[in-house]
Amino acid sequence: MSTESPCTLCALARTTGPDHLASLQECEVVLGENQGNLGWCVAILREHAEHMDDLPPERQARVWGDVARVARAIRRVFAAHGEGGGPVRLNYECLGNVVPHIHWHIVPRHEGEPDLRAAVWLRSPEALRGSLTQGERQHLAARLRDALKTL
Ligand SMILES: [Zn+2]
Repeated sequence: MSTESPCTLCALARTTGPDHLASLQECEVVLGENQGNLGWCVAILREHAEHMDDLPPERQARVWGDVARVARAIRRVFAAHGEGGGPVRLNYECLGNVVPHIHWHIVPRHEGEPDLRAAVWLRSPEALRGSLTQGERQHLAARLRDALKTL
C-alpha cells in the first residue's frame, strides 16, 4: 500500500468551482475557505512544487507578481475601509505546514480587529471560518473576480 496521498492543492488548482477567482501567470487564485477576514484569498502555484527557492528566479518573480495582483484586487474591493482606503494591512503567508505545495495566503486585516498585531492562525477554527452565507461568499467572489480582471 502506498503511503503517498494525492496533493489536495494540485487537485484544487485544476478545478474551477464557485470559489475560483482567476488564472494568473503562475497561480490559480481562489477565495479562501476561511472568511473570518473578509476577502482572504489563496494563490496556488499551478504545478506542484514544495519550495519557493526551487523555482527559477523568473518564476519566483511571476509568483510574487500574482500575489501582488491579488493584494491590489483586495484593496480595490475593500476601498472604503481602513485608513487611506483598503484593509489596514495585508498579511502574505507562504507556509506549507499543512499542505506542502506552494500557496500564498493573502489575508486582509481590517480595521477593528481585536488582535491586529497577532497572526490570524492563533484564532479558533470558527473565528477563522467566519459566518458568510453561501450567497455572501458568491457575491464577494464575484467582486474579487471582477477586480482581478480589470487590474
Ligand atoms: Zn501539489
